[in-house]
Amino acid sequence: MPKAKRKRKGLFMLPKKMTSVKLQHPAKTPIRTCIGCRKKGAKQSLVRLTYTESGIIEVDTRKIREGRGIYLCEATDCWEKGLKGNRLEHALKVPLHSGNATHLIEYSKRFAQNR
Ligand SMILES: [Zn+2]
Repeated sequence: MPKAKRKRKGLFMLPKKMTSVKLQHPAKTPIRTCIGCRKKGAKQSLVRLTYTESGIIEVDTRKIREGRGIYLCEATDCWEKGLKGNRLEHALKVPLHSGNATHLIEYSKRFAQNR
C-alpha cells in the first residue's frame, strides 16, 4: 500500500528534528522577569497575571491560561510598582481600569501579611 510507505518515511525524519530541538532547549526551570522590580526568578515562584476575555487583568493562579501573561514577585511592592508605573498595561498592551487596579492591590496585600 502506498500510504504505509509514506508513513514510514515520516518516521525516519522525526529523530533528526528532535535532536536539534533538544540541543537548543536543555531541560531547565523556566525563568520569568518580574515587571515590578525587573528581577528574574523561577516561573513557579512568581505570580502570573493575564488579560481575560471580560476585559480585566486577573491573577492566573494555575498558570495555564492562554494568551499573553506577565509575572510579578509575591511582594506588594512589586505589584504597586507595576500598577503605578502602568507597567502592567504596557506589558499586556491593554487598558487597566481603576477598579481592576484596586482589586490587584488588594490581592497583593496578602503577600505582606504572610511575612
Ligand atoms: Zn519583583
